[in-house]
Amino acid sequence: MNIHEYQAKDLLAKYGVAVPRGGVAYTTDEAVKVADDLGGPVWVVKSQIHAGGRGAGRFQEDESEGGGVRVVKSIDAVRDSASAMLNKILVTKQTGEEGKKVKRIYIEEGCDIARELYLGILIDRATARVTIMASTEGGMDIEDVAEATPEKIMRVDIDPTTGIQPFHARQIAFGLGLEGGQIKAGSRFLIAMYQAFNDLDASIVEINPMVVTGAGDIIALDAKMNFDDNALFRHKDIAALRDEDEEDPTELEAAKHDLNYITLDGNIGCMVNGAGLAMATMDIIKLYGGAPANFLDVGGGATKERVTTAFKLILSDPNVESILVNIFGGIMRCDVIAEGVVAAAREVSLNVPLVVRLAGTNVDLGKQILKESGLPIVSADDLADAAKKVVKVTLEAA
Ligand code: ADP
Ligand code: MG
Repeated sequence: MNIHEYQAKDLLAKYGVAVPRGGVAYTTDEAVKVADDLGGPVWVVKSQIHAGGRGAGRFQEDESEGGGVRVVKSIDAVRDSASAMLNKILVTKQTGEEGKKVKRIYIEEGCDIARELYLGILIDRATARVTIMASTEGGMDIEDVAEATPEKIMRVDIDPTTGIQPFHARQIAFGLGLEGGQIKAGSRFLIAMYQAFNDLDASIVEINPMVVTGAGDIIALDAKMNFDDNALFRHKDIAALRDEDEEDPTELEAAKHDLNYITLDGNIGCMVNGAGLAMATMDIIKLYGGAPANFLDVGGGATKERVTTAFKLILSDPNVESILVNIFGGIMRCDVIAEGVVAAAREVSLNVPLVVRLAGTNVDLGKQILKESGLPIVSADDLADAAKKVVKVTLEAA
């Protein structure tokens, strides 16, 4: 799960990470009120969306110069920027062409920037460690830095059982070229950030830029946090920060039914039980030249109701041109699944070709039910056969 910059700064500040003062606003009047309370003389008005690259982003149907992050020097300018942003569509490198509607803005005090640095903490599955990434090239896309000048990215691996140690923090501080009192402040900043990452079950904490100010202080000017969904049950306060406006509506609906669903960009809808089988199904569709429209694991206990909900979700995606059902009847019997598929197909008045591959307990009975249903269901024998058939019917339907 993602949260907004202002929410991440709030959480990090509680752990002792230095952030500028600021406040969130949903209207221009609120923005002016926040700016008044902050006092100036410089304010920064920042669009809050779940995507980076806001500063360099552009508003749709807007001829003016301003991006999604604006430094301003008067209350009137705060008002102008707020009304230029609120309820407008911001397009950044990360949002794609369609952009994202700005519904909240953050007003914070302007900061005198001497240096822009990068600091990130994430989980590296390859090493099974927490990795700290740091770079002197802050303020720009870290992916671009990694590509053009990989030597400018420092990595320090932390064993999660011992956690971060002062020498790790000093290693990063020296690597970033911090001097004098900044070394201690930078180390404290990083250790606080690590504690937040660890305690809150985050999967990413990224500060880009972390700045050294003209006065030599170290402050987080931007903050991004992602959380491990599987740990949200023990962080109710963080789960409450979820902004449904920022999320894929189909994924939200799926989550309400405990279905594991992720939207992809292909046209073959997939309904599979078990995450491993779902991955294998997507792979083999690709192998035979098709493209999956989604990942969907209906789980071990695929009842008729779950199958129907899953069908509706798949069909709510306008890109879906065919459906492949690939179910292994282990705990569930194939005949029960077949009945569920037939009932669901009738209920949602299916209008795209449907290929079904069943395997496991009572498979013959299951196939017979599909055949006798009178529905135009293409039956497949194994994974490869199913993938070939669904790619074929998709091409024919197009
Ligand atoms: P994004 O990464 O989405 O573009 P940032 O929060 O990193 O958004 O802001 C973009 C740039 O705007 C920063 O690199 C920094 O130069 C400037 N900026 C952001 N916040 C402030 C601030 N409080 N004071 C001064 N400059 C800021
Ligand atoms: Mg940034």
